[in-house]
Amino acid sequence: MARILAIHAHPDDVEILAGGTVALLASRGHEITIATMTAGDCGSRELPPEEISDVRRREAGSSAALIGAGYLCLEMRDLAVINDDASRRHVAEVLRRSRAELVLTSAPVDYLCDHEAASAMVRDACFGAPAPNYRTGSDSPAPALEAIPHLYFMDPVGGCDREGNLVEPEFVVNVAATFARKREMLAQHASQRNWLRQHHGTDDYLDQMERWTQERGRLAGLSHGEGFRQYRGHPYPQSPLLQELLGDQAIPFRKRTS
Ligand SMILES: [Zn+2]
Repeated sequence: MARILAIHAHPDDVEILAGGTVALLASRGHEITIATMTAGDCGSRELPPEEISDVRRREAGSSAALIGAGYLCLEMRDLAVINDDASRRHVAEVLRRSRAELVLTSAPVDYLCDHEAASAMVRDACFGAPAPNYRTGSDSPAPALEAIPHLYFMDPVGGCDREGNLVEPEFVVNVAATFARKREMLAQHASQRNWLRQHHGTDDYLDQMERWTQERGRLAGLSHGEGFRQYRGHPYPQSPLLQELLGDQAIPFRKRTS
């Protein structure tokens, strides 16, 4: 069984972009940890940062618990996720504590600076985590990883770059069987559903996620899908570990377009 870390910027990002996939992997017995860089301290118009952060940590924990996953927050601040030295070491410590063999993280190009910074920071921390001399500054540091983990980027939010162009996935995971669980996980984030309802005037949170999941699925002829791209930069692992774990539920995107 693989140890898998799904790490993104904010509470609810993993659920929206990879919830069906982590639910599928959890149902097959793999060990899942969900982590977020921030506790979502800007996600409220009524509650101050400390209070909404408490709410959102609880919501994220409830969501992770639905699939038997652990949840942890790196306690950075919204709109202040920066790929700097201290933050990168903190991410490396989380990689070591989760003993991650496989990492799912945010897309390099996305609509929000925190998402893009998280992507680069996780990429770089994966490089540092196996190096024993790369010290994280933790009071009780975990041992270095044995190797650089397999690294995958999730879709950007909405499947588009900042100009609205389609970001093509390398493969699409069929999440039809776990979509109900994905929706249930996202529904745990009730504070965000309320916040977006106030902002947009519609109860669109869960339905918007469903539309995006359907659109990504259509790229591979599926009812519901989530796209991923493997990072294969030197010297990261090249073998398709996630695709192998998912078997025929991972549909190569280019097969249909070539
Ligand atoms: Zn986010």
